[in-house]
Amino acid sequence: MPHTLISNTHAIYWTCVMLLVKQSTTALQTSSTLSVVISPHIDDAILSAGGWLLSMPGYKVVVNVFAGIPSAGMRTHRDALSGCSSSRAAMQLRHLEEKEIMSKLGVEFINLKFLDGQYRQQPHSANMTAIIESIQELLRDLKAQHPGHNCLIVLAPSPLSTTHSDHTIASHAVMQIAEHSSWIHLLFYSDFPYTRTAMHVHQNVAELTTDIQQHVQCKVQRIQVPLSPAVITAKKQLIGMYKSQARPFLERGVNITEWGSEYAKWMCGVHAPCEVYHTYKCK
Ligand SMILES: [Zn+2]
Repeated sequence: MPHTLISNTHAIYWTCVMLLVKQSTTALQTSSTLSVVISPHIDDAILSAGGWLLSMPGYKVVVNVFAGIPSAGMRTHRDALSGCSSSRAAMQLRHLEEKEIMSKLGVEFINLKFLDGQYRQQPHSANMTAIIESIQELLRDLKAQHPGHNCLIVLAPSPLSTTHSDHTIASHAVMQIAEHSSWIHLLFYSDFPYTRTAMHVHQNVAELTTDIQQHVQCKVQRIQVPLSPAVITAKKQLIGMYKSQARPFLERGVNITEWGSEYAKWMCGVHAPCEVYHTYKCK
């Protein structure tokens, strides 16, 4: 992965992020912060940053990158597991689920037209230039639409903990944009359920963090967003509403809703469940 993309420019957003975390703990209802969660697929924003979306102040937007509707005549194994007759029907169902969930959450969402890896001829590569341009234009538009929100935090999947190529592509796209946009404050979310898989390998959070620091030669700063019992309950309800996505997990014996809640305890302790985010300070 292009570690050189993480550089000095990413250090300046620390104050912005800390201000927001402080605001959230003092229960301020208004904030000048605009949070944009870059979600590779429809459901990733809730799975990984549902607590942020539920509890952080300010205006929040979810951008689903690989949300394009494929042409007719295709049906993948995952579509079949989701109970859908075609890939097209599967994505249309996901759009409906997202509309309902974001409406319940009260968060704006935007679906981009890029196809999910399972629907591309080359699942592990994508038109990076088009993805970067599309996200960049969107961020510029959002910034222009919210002139009072002078703190723009973009949340992206952690580039080192994901094992899904669509997530890696989305992460690298955002890093490239942030590299040339000092007005963007980049924050990485722990990419559930992929981080969980990575953490199985690394055994624990401390080891994973050390590994990241050695890997990118940057100081990793960890932010824990505490999840109250009410937020955990609300997050579980939202995850459970992605019924089409829960079914393939159930086929493998995994209840993704419960798994997500266990993960929050596993990350930060059974008595203080949280979501974990990272920023980087580089030399
Ligand atoms: Zn995903």
